[in-house]
Amino acid sequence: MSEPTIFERIVAGDIPARIVYETDTVAAFLDANPLAPGHTLVVPKTPYERLDEMPADVAADVWAAVQELTPRIEAAVDADATTIGVNNGEAAGQEVPHVHVHVVPRFAGDGGGPIHAVAGSRPDLSEGELDDIADAIGSSE
Ligand code: AMP
Repeated sequence: MSEPTIFERIVAGDIPARIVYETDTVAAFLDANPLAPGHTLVVPKTPYERLDEMPADVAADVWAAVQELTPRIEAAVDADATTIGVNNGEAAGQEVPHVHVHVVPRFAGDGGGPIHAVAGSRPDLSEGELDDIADAIGSSE
């Protein structure tokens, strides 16, 4: 058995967290190093590392929690909007190997950027390359 992830330990009550939502399959708690007031993490209780490892019913439960919580989070901190995202894999910045959806409250003029700012320099792709990529995604089932 591998070591439990830090989020499993939170769900188990072994380490403290400000839990704001809990069902049989999903928990949500405030991020310990928030990017904004109200920054919340929504996690499946089972420690799937990547999004594609989550069974569809658990993924649906996680997304339902995100949808339910987002207006509550915005109201709690009087936010104007939210940025919602997943660092899916180490190269994308994932530090905790347990799926978690970041719900980050946003405020007009907060100095942050849109989700377009997360990747490096933009690629210059030809029409053929775009066609090949679309075909590869569409045919890889
Ligand atoms: P990521 O880089 O997407 O894996 O994000 C991991 C997040 O987990 C970071 O935003 C951390 O601040 C947060 N985090 C790490 N440990 C804890 C903890 N004990 N309680 C709450 N949030 C945590």
